[in-house]
Amino acid sequence: MRGLRNKGVLVTGGASGIGAATAARFLEEGAQVCVLDRDPKGNDAIQASLPGLRATIRCDVTRTEEVRAAFDQAVALMGGVDVVINNAGISIRHRFLEITAEDWDRVLAVNLTGVFHVAQTGARHMIQRGKGVILNTASTNGIAGYPFYADYNATKAGVIELTRSMALELAPAVRVNAVAPGYVLTPMQRAEYTDEMLEEVNRKLPLGRHALPEEVAALFAFLASDDAAYITGHVYCLDGGELAGGLASR
Ligand code: NDP
Repeated sequence: MRGLRNKGVLVTGGASGIGAATAARFLEEGAQVCVLDRDPKGNDAIQASLPGLRATIRCDVTRTEEVRAAFDQAVALMGGVDVVINNAGISIRHRFLEITAEDWDRVLAVNLTGVFHVAQTGARHMIQRGKGVILNTASTNGIAGYPFYADYNATKAGVIELTRSMALELAPAVRVNAVAPGYVLTPMQRAEYTDEMLEEVNRKLPLGRHALPEEVAALFAFLASDDAAYITGHVYCLDGGELAGGLASR
């Protein structure tokens, strides 16, 4: 991809899954990369497997002060943050009627409020510098309805609308887009699905398999690059054809 060499990239939720693959991809592109994650063991593990990382910064995105301090650290280490991959997220598989107030608050705190804290902190820095790219991780769950994830789905729909609104207010200096993956084989997905459930999903998908985290990382790299200089305010699905046919395809 063009224009990523030496750029400062901050990846939230970068210790695992899609975030870890994205950190690796930006390193391959010659960027400077800091990972931000709440999981200290995960941070140590990703630093060991990607020694080229500038740093792993322990931070809970639900806490605005921690986000600001982590961002300052990333700026100091990389000389500025050009790209934010706003990716940390959680999900809980439960029926709508069984969602507790605590579950609801927990999912919203990470997936929507956390995304907001990171996006606003990043945007303030980028507007000052007159340039930057913010990429938010949404989901196909923010576009279509899915059972057992009502709280999660609501947050991802919120991320999509936040993305569009930010893109309008921050243009032309800062580009903002969302990536909406379908089913991706990551620890988050594995934690909630048995082997049989994974197989059942694979059978339904036109491309017949889950996405690899590296495939989502490739889309992030493209959207962050100069090749995507005219792209802002959109949501890009990477779903193996899942949403193409709606109910008719099931
Ligand atoms: P993983 O669980 O593999 O990775 C998410 C990382 O984010 C973990 O290291 C996690 O730490 C961290 N994290 C969670 N909460 C916070 C927080 N409050 N502050 C900082 N870090 C935090 O998930 P995925 O890679 O699968 O998911 C990444 C993103 O992609 C999420 O936003 C998810 O919703 C989205 N997505 C995933 C899909 C999939 O099929 N896997 C499909 C569509 C979207 P910890 O381990 O401590 O929770």
